[in-house]
Amino acid sequence: MKTIYDVVIIGCGAAGLSAATYTSREGFKTLIIDEKNLGGELMSTGKIDDYLGIFGGVSGVQLAMNMYRQALKFGVEVKCPETIVDLDLNGIVKKIITGSGEYRGYSIIITSGGGESRSLVEGEAKLIGRGVSYCASCDGPLYRGVDVACIGNSGKIIEDLKILTSTARRVYLVLEEENGELEKAASQYGNVVTVKGRLLKIGGSGKVEEIIVEGDFGRRRIPVSAVFIAGEGDGKNEIYGRAGIALTDEGYVKVNLKQETNIRGIYAAGNCTGRGFNVAISIGDGLMAAISALKYVKSIKARMGEIKRESNIFYVEIEEGKRAYHRFKVEEDCMIMQSTYTPPEYRGLGIAGRIVGEVLKYAGKIGVKKLIVECSYVKRWIEKRRGEIGEFEVEYDIKA
Ligand SMILES: Cc1cc2nc3c(=O)[nH]c(=O)nc-3n(C[C@H](O)[C@H](O)[C@H](O)COP(=O)(O)OP(=O)(O)OC[C@H]3O[C@@H](n4cnc5c(N)ncnc54)[C@H](O)[C@@H]3O)c2cc1C
Repeated sequence: MKTIYDVVIIGCGAAGLSAATYTSREGFKTLIIDEKNLGGELMSTGKIDDYLGIFGGVSGVQLAMNMYRQALKFGVEVKCPETIVDLDLNGIVKKIITGSGEYRGYSIIITSGGGESRSLVEGEAKLIGRGVSYCASCDGPLYRGVDVACIGNSGKIIEDLKILTSTARRVYLVLEEENGELEKAASQYGNVVTVKGRLLKIGGSGKVEEIIVEGDFGRRRIPVSAVFIAGEGDGKNEIYGRAGIALTDEGYVKVNLKQETNIRGIYAAGNCTGRGFNVAISIGDGLMAAISALKYVKSIKARMGEIKRESNIFYVEIEEGKRAYHRFKVEEDCMIMQSTYTPPEYRGLGIAGRIVGEVLKYAGKIGVKKLIVECSYVKRWIEKRRGEIGEFEVEYDIKA
């Protein structure tokens, strides 16, 4: 069975490392995923003079390395570089989908940064809305059958490629930094041309007509009708919005003072919430998000662990209105084990097995000698644990 993490943290910057250090130190299974490497913005801050308690300042890189070592010491798992491209937040176990796999967790802390301003390239500002676009899903269809360019290193661009390759004739992917995951995603499409270099200029009179890219090949002029830009801060929270997480009017992840989003079990901290853009704030908010996430994880685990009985049913109230249960009937010294049910999205968590174990304990207590098993799940369960079920005589009469 795939691991279910207690906490999955998106982003290995100051906020993510702060949250991860706390949750892993408390003994909760924690995973950090980052599309680049450790440290986030800290890796480009130079010297930080205003971090309280470090007199004389510290380099961002040094601070990031120390935070990373601290988190690793407490057992955090790290996957990078890997980009989160989608989230499935239905049910108690959330799915985190990356460019190359899928992870599962009871809670998620979003600390994916953003908010830093990207400097515009020459020609970009005057051609916005005239071929320069920041939204492939909105404007991609306007450039059907022609050549376009797209640029960016963020997870959003993997999504943009899906859209653009299905509408444009040819898509020039301008890669300003090495990004194996993105190149791999691009190689799936027959109409993507990857150009490794820096975008210097977007040209055209009245509308986009060309881009100029500089790389090992020198300067290259590429005729295109549109340029789609997926920069660090541009619409990077769209994936959260699509998954139902509320965003602020400015596009940041909306949180309250406990760093809770509108969805239970999902928290956010640091620059992605649009509050502060400062290392200490990211660290503080990351810690608060971790405290809230652990409170939530403890509460759902306690609820999933609590098995109750109501006449001839043992059940776990997984969430309001959703029960996993086993139904039985007792006739003299015989228990008929009729049916077991777990809502599909909660299967594989061992809930049904714990319920059946509890039913058998009860059977022993009330003096049951014989089990008539009508339920195929219980048959499989018993066959795996023949030695553990005590002295019961077992007869199978499978109906469900
Ligand atoms: C040049 C510069 C100087 C600065 N100077 C100071 C200073 O002196 N003092 C100060 O307090 N602050 C300073 N700051 C700000 C400070 O560095 C940031 O506010 C802080 O580091 C942000 O931390 P964060 O964890 O919130 O986000 P980030 O550090 O941005 O971390 C976010 C992480 O999430 C990852 N990520 C994003 N999207 C995805 C995805 N879809 N899938 C997987 N991973 C993803 C990113 O790769 C990144 O590693 C400076 C910033 C800059 C740029």
